[in-house]
Amino acid sequence: MTLPAGDESASSQSRALERHWRCTACAYDLFGLVGDPICCPECGEENSLSTLEQLNCLHSEREYPSYVIAATSGIIIWIGVALSGDCVEAWDCRYFPIGIILSSVVAGALGTTRPRHCWRWGIVIGFTQGLTHVAMTLGRSLGPTWPLGLCLLTVLCGLYVGCAYGGAHLSRKTHDKWE
Ligand SMILES: [Zn+2]
Repeated sequence: MTLPAGDESASSQSRALERHWRCTACAYDLFGLVGDPICCPECGEENSLSTLEQLNCLHSEREYPSYVIAATSGIIIWIGVALSGDCVEAWDCRYFPIGIILSSVVAGALGTTRPRHCWRWGIVIGFTQGLTHVAMTLGRSLGPTWPLGLCLLTVLCGLYVGCAYGGAHLSRKTHDKWE
């Protein structure tokens, strides 16, 4: 059951925010502030209570699928690249750059849809690709180039995190335009 919109906003306008909801633009903690919209003291963003509530209610239940998407796409892309080039190590394949582009697109898309702590999506994709690589090369001798591989994976992780931040930035820009 929901209150009529008018009653709801009238009661919430006069009360201080009792939750640690964060500014949609800069993530500043808006706890204890009054108003609807709440004007962020840090960046001046007008945060409407309905948007904040929506974001905070939805974000926890919607995070789980994002982790699954990040992890499965990381694994599928890595295995896909290796199989398409008939290689055990994905980075030996000529399709490897395509795999990197695809992973970056997934990271960016997740950053756009889930901008909060968006670095997680990049880390999850990079980490699962590292694990997939280890699983696929299990039992083989490491060879002298493994530090190079580790460096490459770290760089990839950084790239995906960057793409996720890019996506998050883009979604905030678009959000601003709609407001
Ligand atoms: Zn702010």
